Amino acid sequence: MKLDSRQLRYLTSEDWRVLTAVEMGSKNHELVPTVLIAQIAGLRGGSGVHKSIATLAKSGLVAKIKNAKYDGYRLTYGGLDYLSLNTLRKSDTVFSLGNQIGVGKESDIYVVADPTGKQLVLKLHRLGRISFRTVKANRDYLRNRTTGSWMYLSRLAAMKEYAFMQVLKREGFPVPEPIAQTRHTLVMELIDSFPLRSIDNVSDPLKLYGELMELIVRLAKVGLIHGDFNEFNLLIKEDPVTKKSTPILIDFPQMLSTTHENAQWYFDRDVNCIKLFFSRRFNFTSDEPGPFFADAIKDTDQSKRLDIEVEATGFSRKMAKDLDRFVEAVGFTNEAEEEATGAQEAVDGQEDEEDDEDYSEDDEEATTSQTAQEDQTEQELAEQTHTD
Ligand code: ADP
Ligand code: MG
Repeated sequence: MKLDSRQLRYLTSEDWRVLTAVEMGSKNHELVPTVLIAQIAGLRGGSGVHKSIATLAKSGLVAKIKNAKYDGYRLTYGGLDYLSLNTLRKSDTVFSLGNQIGVGKESDIYVVADPTGKQLVLKLHRLGRISFRTVKANRDYLRNRTTGSWMYLSRLAAMKEYAFMQVLKREGFPVPEPIAQTRHTLVMELIDSFPLRSIDNVSDPLKLYGELMELIVRLAKVGLIHGDFNEFNLLIKEDPVTKKSTPILIDFPQMLSTTHENAQWYFDRDVNCIKLFFSRRFNFTSDEPGPFFADAIKDTDQSKRLDIEVEATGFSRKMAKDLDRFVEAVGFTNEAEEEATGAQEAVDGQEDEEDDEDYSEDDEEATTSQTAQEDQTEQELAEQTHTD
């Protein structure tokens, strides 16, 4: 879905109140009754509310649910995007919206500018826009989710990512500086770089390889496994003067603790992703075996367990559990594996027009059969695009 901010300035303050009311009402209602919208917005149920609702619906920020038992509206991802942009604008975090630079499996990435013109990155999480290809046993878990619950999970992904970026940055890890987080979005430093994936030659593969393995081990020593450590999520930044290149790690919603029951498996997968990439791309294979999980966690500094620290912040254990259930249900192939199996393809910056705003199948499609839904998801998967 395209984030089109043009409407932002045409919305009246009443429209905003109504949109905010729909968001608030969504906490308890999948479909927010029109009377409740009017009540929360503090507007009399007269023509004002209806006019605002009509404007919002026309812009795709709220939507009706087909065959609903009562008159009401729900928030769309477009509406949630607008609310987030408005919050970021009011706090002077974001002044203008620039180009989209990434269409991920489950996120959209835009360049934005702050009021001084400095460029930043806005990441919008879009859980629910997934490939169900890998999902067998847990189809019901995914299918039965409502739009609201996808939005909740997207918010969790943004919160988790932001929380980890904050502690990692503080501890001196090479990650973008986190700047703000609201709802399903976060704002961070723009890294002027190329993803490792698009780099054909490095002057010293041994050195870069060593740095990356060291990074995986350093993470494990503070209790963390990235879980998707690969050429898509490593940005290579080159110092314009010294020409020295530094890897910067991004993309943290799947980060897990070294105490996770499958920690070793995830650790090995991160290590092997890099090994495989280096051998294929740079024809480089290290003489040294490992690194090994058992060695990496041997001298963990218990006072610096970032996995425990993050759990103690706003991103609670309950939230972590909710998000983990989703991650498990999706089966969690990583991006490198997805590409290897042809599940995603690169695009030339063209966004799919049909790529719609709401990917949950719970409402409008409520009457279609199970198979029809599956067909639809397969088709969506075939149309899916990826540029990172
Ligand atoms: P996803 O979860 O969709 O994979 P990522 O966080 O990996 O999202 O971002 C997708 C792509 O967007 C990255 O591969 C990278 O090209 C670009 N990107 C993301 N964050 C930044 C950043 N801070 N600076 C520059 N480019 C970024
Ligand atoms: Mg990524």
